[in-house]
Amino acid sequence: MAPLIEIKEVSKTYSIGAFRVEALKRVSISVEPGEFVSLVGPSGSGKSTLLHIMGFLDRPDSGEYCFAGHPTASLGEGRLAAIRSRMVGFIFQSFHLLKRTTARDNVLLPMVYTGLGADSQKALECLRIVGLSDRVKHKSNELSGGQCQRVAIARSLVNDPLVIMADEPTGNLDAVSRAEVMQVLKDLNARGLTVVIVTHDDEISAMTDRVVRLKDGVIVSDERRRSPRPAAAAASALPQARLGFSPSEFWEQLKVAFKSIWSHKMRSALTVLGILIGVGAIISLMTISEGFMKNMLMNTSADDAKKVYVTPRYSRGRNPRQLAMSDVEAIRAGVPLAENVSPMLSRTLTVSAGDKHVSTTINSDEGYETGRQLADRKFFKNSGVQGRFFTPAENLSRARLAVINQTLAKRLFEDGDAVGGELRINGIAFTVVGVAEDIKAESLFGGRPTAYIPFNTAAKRVFGTTRLTYIEVAARSPEEAPETRTQILTALRAAHGLREDADDDVEVNTFEASINMFKSMMGKVSMVVYSIAGISLLVGGIGIMNIMLVSVTERTREIGLRKALGARNTDILSQFLIEAVALCVVGGGLGIGLGLTLGWAASVFIKVQPELTFRTIAFAFGFSTVIGVAFGFWPALRAAMLDPIEALRYE
Ligand code: ADP
Repeated sequence: MAPLIEIKEVSKTYSIGAFRVEALKRVSISVEPGEFVSLVGPSGSGKSTLLHIMGFLDRPDSGEYCFAGHPTASLGEGRLAAIRSRMVGFIFQSFHLLKRTTARDNVLLPMVYTGLGADSQKALECLRIVGLSDRVKHKSNELSGGQCQRVAIARSLVNDPLVIMADEPTGNLDAVSRAEVMQVLKDLNARGLTVVIVTHDDEISAMTDRVVRLKDGVIVSDERRRSPRPAAAAASALPQARLGFSPSEFWEQLKVAFKSIWSHKMRSALTVLGILIGVGAIISLMTISEGFMKNMLMNTSADDAKKVYVTPRYSRGRNPRQLAMSDVEAIRAGVPLAENVSPMLSRTLTVSAGDKHVSTTINSDEGYETGRQLADRKFFKNSGVQGRFFTPAENLSRARLAVINQTLAKRLFEDGDAVGGELRINGIAFTVVGVAEDIKAESLFGGRPTAYIPFNTAAKRVFGTTRLTYIEVAARSPEEAPETRTQILTALRAAHGLREDADDDVEVNTFEASINMFKSMMGKVSMVVYSIAGISLLVGGIGIMNIMLVSVTERTREIGLRKALGARNTDILSQFLIEAVALCVVGGGLGIGLGLTLGWAASVFIKVQPELTFRTIAFAFGFSTVIGVAFGFWPALRAAMLDPIEALRYE
C-alpha cells in the first residue's frame, strides 16, 4: 500500500522584509496509514509548518507532496478545499470553536462544506466517541478546556477523514484534560485512523508510536516504536472540487448572517440607517405619486378629455400677450369644432365674513362650465351640500351672488351652514346661494378655499378687468380635441395678425397634453427626490462596506477555521455577500415601513391615498440587494482571499 503522506525534499522559506527564515530545509518524511506520529522539537524548529503543509493549509516552496498516492502540487484551490473537507481532520491548540454555539452545532460545521447537508445523528455519534454525549447542547463558553478540545476532535471526525492532524492539541490543557484528550486520540488510532500531532512535550510524544524530531527546519531523528496499526484502506482517488451551492449551505449561511446581525444589534441598526432613509424616501415618493396618478385618472372624465385650454404664453424677456374677450369671440367665430367656449377669470383675494378673513381663489366663467360641472358631478346632491348655482340672467345683471366650496364654508361660517349668509370680496357684499363639495383636483392640495361668482360681476365689479386667466374650449369629442386645438391656433393667429413665420403668441393645450406636462413635471420632482435618495443610498452603501470590513477583520480567525474545515474561497465570499445583502434587505424592509409611514403622513396634507404596489416593494428589495452586492463585494472578496494559516494566527 502507498504511504498516506509522502513528502520529498520539501522546503519552505518565510521572508519578512530582507530577513529570511528557512522554516523547512529539504525535509522528507512518509507516514503509513494507521500510524500515530508525533512531530517534536524546540519552538521554531518547523513542526507547525510541516503539519500545515501536510494538512493542505499551506503549500511548500519546493519539493513534492503525494497524498494517498496522488501528487498534489498542481491541485487547485477548490480541490484542496475538498481534500481538507473530506480527508483531513484538523485540531488546533486553541480549539477554535465557534463562539456562543452549541457543541452539536460546532461538530456539524464541517458538514456544511461537503455539500451533502448536516447529519445530526452523525454529530451525536462523534460526540459520543469523545465522551461528550451529555454536553451536546452546551455552548462553547459553558465547557471546560478539555471538553472544548474533545468537541474539536469530534468536529474533526465528522466527515470520516483518513488522517487527523493536531497542532499542540494539549498545549492549553491541564494534566487531567491532557490525559483525556490523548486517550481519545489513542482510541481513534486504535480504530485504524492515522494521527499526526505536533508537540513540544516529551510526555505527550511518549504516548505516540513514532517520534519525529525536528531542529532548525531539518529532521534530526525518526524513531518508530511500534509498527502501524492495520488501517482502513486509503481512498483510491482524491475528491473532486465541489461546484455550486447546496440548499443546506445557503441556509447555514443565512443563519450565520442573521446571527451576526442580531449579535450586533446597535451596530447593525446604525449601519442600515442610510439604506433605511434612502429606501424610505423613494418608497414614500413612489406610494404618493402612484396614489396621485390613480386619483387623477379616476377624476378625469370623458368630459375632461374634450377640453382644450388657451393660456397666455410666457417666454423670457417678453410680456405675455393677455387674453381678452375678443379672443373668445374669435374662437367662437372661427372654430366650428368648438362646442363651448368659456372665458375664465381667476384671482386670489381675501374673502371676509364677520371678523373672519380667508385668502380664497375666486373663479368665474361666462360659459357656466363650472356650474355645469358641479351639477353634472352631482356635487349638490350629496348630503350636507346645498343651494344652487347662479343663472345666466343673474350673470347679465352682475348679481352679487357666490357659490363657495365646503372648505371655505367651514372657515367662514361656524356651523358650515352658509347658504343665505353674507360675505365680502374686496369690500363688496355677496350673498351665498350654494355650497359645493370641493372639486377633487382642488382637494388634492388640502382643499383650497374657493368661491365662484358670476363672470360679469367678477369682470365689472370685483376684478375691474376682463384680462382672462384662460379660455376653456370644449371640443365635440375627445378625438377631435387635437384638431380643435389646431383650429383655435389658426383663428387666434389670424385675429392677432401674426405673420406666417412668427411664433405663436398664446399657449393652446389639449387636456391630454396638460396631463402629460403635469406628469413630466412630476417626473422632474421625482428625479430630485431620487437623486437625494440616491446619495443617501450611496452613503448607506459605504456604511455597509465599512462595517463589513470590520466584520471580516473581527472574524479573521473564524474565516481561517472555516477554510481549514473545508470551506472554498467561494463559500467565504458568498457568506459575507449574503451578510451584506441581509443587512441591506433588513434596511430596505424598514425603509418600506418608513416610506409608508411618511406616505400616510403626507396623505393627511395632500388628500391622496398612498398606493403600495407590488412593483414598489420589489423595487425596494431589488435595490437593497443590488447595494448589498455592490458594496459587500470588496469586503467579501478580502475575506475569501485570506490565507487560512495567517487567518488562524490572526490576533
Ligand atoms: P514550530 O511549530 O516548530 O514552533 P513553526 O513551523 O511555527 O515552528 O515556525 C518555523 C519558523 O518559521 C520559525 O522561525 C517562525 O518564526 C517562522 N515562521 C513561521 N510562520 C511564519 C510566517 N507566517 N511568517 C514569517 N515567519 C514564519
